[in-house]
Amino acid sequence: MSEFVFNQIGIIESPYQQKFAIPRQPGLVPAAKGRIKLSSHCNNLDTLKGLERSSHLWLIFVFHETMEQGWKPMVRPPRLGGNEKMGVFATRSTFRPNPIGMSVVRNEGVYREGKQVYLQISALDLLNGTPILDIKPYLPYSDALTGVQTGFSQPNESDMMAVEFAPLAQQQLKRLSNQYPELPLFIEQVLQQDPRPAYKKNKPDEKTYAMSLYDLNISWRVIANTNQVLEIATTTSP
Ligand code: SAM
Repeated sequence: MSEFVFNQIGIIESPYQQKFAIPRQPGLVPAAKGRIKLSSHCNNLDTLKGLERSSHLWLIFVFHETMEQGWKPMVRPPRLGGNEKMGVFATRSTFRPNPIGMSVVRNEGVYREGKQVYLQISALDLLNGTPILDIKPYLPYSDALTGVQTGFSQPNESDMMAVEFAPLAQQQLKRLSNQYPELPLFIEQVLQQDPRPAYKKNKPDEKTYAMSLYDLNISWRVIANTNQVLEIATTTSP
């Protein structure tokens, strides 16, 4: 047997509406909150019974947004600055022979809305609408290893960019505070990661960037090595 057909067991509802600015791995933006809506054949509280004992979960999912673009044997991981080439299986690239991803996320609880079962999660790195193939509990005795070697260094404080909110953005945050109480922290954690292409780092940059979180269009610029949030506009506003 060399071909397999899987049905999605759920779909992600995520604040990340586009690939740009999604963190490169889960856990980097703890304030990112989303949920999994179970597919009809799994839409039963029984399928998640006992999951409340696990604070963290593995999600196995499909890189649905990029799967049509295919794959190449070698890729340039952004984490290495985008210059070095590595074999696809030596990386966590989205462009793979089987476009499958895996992320550890925080379990924030199971609940129902009417007949629909949801699993609330946080610290995700997944695009809105990502199809989920499987959910498994994270097992530290097996999954959290010590003495591990990797070519990918752990992001540290010095990699993080400072973030400030311009007066207009501060006013807009105030107006949105009932609807999105954690928005300032969420934006800050996303922009601390510096979502720009790796080659832009530590270079003069005049460009205004924009990202889509929830129904918001958020623009920022780099001023004196600080990400300055300029505007937070609802996409429905004129
Ligand atoms: N943690 C996963 C892994 O290691 O398999 C994903 C790592 S991948 C480098 C993370 C990136 O995948 C994110 O920055 C985002 O741009 C992209 N991504 C997230 N959801 C996606 C989707 N449904 N389709 C395509 N790309 C996606």
